[in-house]
Amino acid sequence: MLVASGGQKHEVHERSQISHVSLKNASAITGHVFRAERIKFQHRYGVLKCFVLLTQSSRESSFSIMSGTGLIYDEEMTRYKLLWTDPVCKIEVPERLTVSYEALKCRGLEQRCVCVPTRQATDEEILLVHSKEYLEAVKQTPHMHLDDLLTFTQQYGDVYFHPNIYHCATLAVGAALQLVDNVMTGKVRNGMALVRPPGHHSQRSEANGFCVFNNVAIAALYAKKHYNLNRVLIVDWDIHHGQGVQYCFEEDSSVLYFSWHRYEHQRFWPNLAESDYDSVGKGKGTGFNINLPWNKVGMTNSDYLSAFFHVLLPIAYEFDPELVFVCAGFDSAIGDPEGHMCASPEIFGHLTHLLMSLAEGRLCAVLEGGYNLTSLAQSVCQTIQTLLGDPTPVLNDIGPPCHSALESVHNVRAAHQKNWGCLKHMVCLVSEPSTKKCRVEEKDEKQEEETTEHLVWPEPVPRDAPPVHTAALISKEEEDLLPEDCQRLGEISPKYIEEAEKIRNKHFQDVTDERTLQCIQDVVSLLEKIKNREVRNGLAVVPDVFVSLKCAVEHATNSLSERILVLFVGDDNVPVDTKDGRVLLVQICKKEPERVKSLYHVPVCLNKGVFSSASVMAAVLGLLLPLAYEFNPGLVLQVVAEGSGGLDVCVWAQLTSLLQGVAQGTTLALLKGCDRDMVTATGVSLSGAPAPSLGPLDPPLAEDVEVIEAQRQRLQERWGLLLNTVSESGTESGQMKTPPAASSV
Ligand SMILES: [Zn+2]
Repeated sequence: MLVASGGQKHEVHERSQISHVSLKNASAITGHVFRAERIKFQHRYGVLKCFVLLTQSSRESSFSIMSGTGLIYDEEMTRYKLLWTDPVCKIEVPERLTVSYEALKCRGLEQRCVCVPTRQATDEEILLVHSKEYLEAVKQTPHMHLDDLLTFTQQYGDVYFHPNIYHCATLAVGAALQLVDNVMTGKVRNGMALVRPPGHHSQRSEANGFCVFNNVAIAALYAKKHYNLNRVLIVDWDIHHGQGVQYCFEEDSSVLYFSWHRYEHQRFWPNLAESDYDSVGKGKGTGFNINLPWNKVGMTNSDYLSAFFHVLLPIAYEFDPELVFVCAGFDSAIGDPEGHMCASPEIFGHLTHLLMSLAEGRLCAVLEGGYNLTSLAQSVCQTIQTLLGDPTPVLNDIGPPCHSALESVHNVRAAHQKNWGCLKHMVCLVSEPSTKKCRVEEKDEKQEEETTEHLVWPEPVPRDAPPVHTAALISKEEEDLLPEDCQRLGEISPKYIEEAEKIRNKHFQDVTDERTLQCIQDVVSLLEKIKNREVRNGLAVVPDVFVSLKCAVEHATNSLSERILVLFVGDDNVPVDTKDGRVLLVQICKKEPERVKSLYHVPVCLNKGVFSSASVMAAVLGLLLPLAYEFNPGLVLQVVAEGSGGLDVCVWAQLTSLLQGVAQGTTLALLKGCDRDMVTATGVSLSGAPAPSLGPLDPPLAEDVEVIEAQRQRLQERWGLLLNTVSESGTESGQMKTPPAASSV
């Protein structure tokens, strides 16, 4: 049996036990074949430790390569439908599955997935969540005539029964369980189950909201039981509150449930007080239920990203799940008759990407809602394509969240401040009483029913992947540090030599060192390959990081992209001009740089001699990613000036993976010298392997939070996606409120 060790902190003496054998196994888990001969002891304390230790704790398991995306589809689940007239239920049609599946086939995505068969769930499995009485009652439905089915249906809310729905419901649960088994045994890295009926509304003894059995809740309990998991994350991005999942786990600290949902101050179905942000879980489950209510319709990509960056991801990283489920409902996408939201199908490619660095990539998405067939099929494709590792789609027009979304984000953060270390050192957050007040005041106001069904939106553009995932500029001797699918940079074309000559003559006339000059040529060559879409990512180990960076910025701004994001780890003054707004420089350092800071130069000076992982992740999630998404660069340059500078390579691997979300996953990494762990970590992450888990994170250091907050305050007027508290924004009311008093926390 596999015992995932993802979140455990390991002692140093354990790390010293790394053997050649376990390195081989580590390669198998990551899905990348390392040339283990040369690296067997090199990575004792490095990036491989997590993979290796994972293997050590699961040596008896029959691990196969952890790569690939599982897809579960069974036509049988299309064989039930509404048999009478019901305006509420008429949208839940069999075509929801068929159009999604056809779209996957049509785009060649189904063919790239590992086809996983479904099975029927057993009674014992269904009883993990549901009562015996309820199961027995549902079992009677295949034998009922129309009148009896109708009567049976009427005891529940917004659901319908059919003689074949019990069979389909057992297959839907079985599909979720099959996905768990395939992901947890490493047969696939991640996957999606296209199922009907959906599950997240169904409760212990109750069908509800088109749902019969709670597929994901059962799968989470099954995963805990069969794979000894201690921490499972369920992300419910369906537009309805999965109250069934909440009820199942609200007293359970081993399952973190996050749901955002259309709420409109309780006016939207299922109209429950307990769907609001102040339902945070009960007893020992306090803090493990996170509700983010949307009190207005029309939420956009920016609003969804804001919720991820400022609520879900910081808490999820602190929690450190061993397995991630997505209640993947796509009624939260544009055009949906239920959701009335305005987020594009592409956003699901990004939400998926942002979750794929958790739990070492173990992610199971299970279909819930989604009733606009066009939007549904497009969103399913975006999700699967990201699971397969294709470049993330371009998201234009990312900016500040709307006032209502910001209010919701603020309120959830306030409600959870005492529960999570990542929120602990913020100024004391007080929830906005206005959101509760609205509910009373607007109670009798006639709700204007806006609709987004008539909306048209562009078909998502194809997300073609360049033939080479990562090209590396590295010596032959050091090649072994990289996964095999990293390709060494080959022969340099004469036209690149010419281009490099020009840059050299313009900027580096005084440079005479041959290796540095060669490096200019190589960097230009790598960038040209990226520009021509021959290569997606580049990695270069360079003798002079400043010359290489300057050359890369010069060449990239001239010929590759309007906007370049530079992430620089190190204390030096970075030789990059940020004045014209084409380069956004985020610098993680220990000493404040001397240069005057612009709104495009963001130094994050963290205090500890060795960077605290929690602090760096707080900066990555709260500053770097919102900035990166709003800036929308065409290329990311990641630069490490001197060794890792005390930066944990696992943290570096995480942020490298996360940054693949922008610039269509195009990064050029420049590493000074050859810190072997750093090279491997970078190569592995750029190749799309999931980053190692960081273990449950401690709270970030108070002084670091202060630094990050100061930067957020300085920049948020220009970069609105940094906003996370209402008091900072006067966007709708037109007036700034007094900031809350400093916290005593
Ligand atoms: Zn829904």
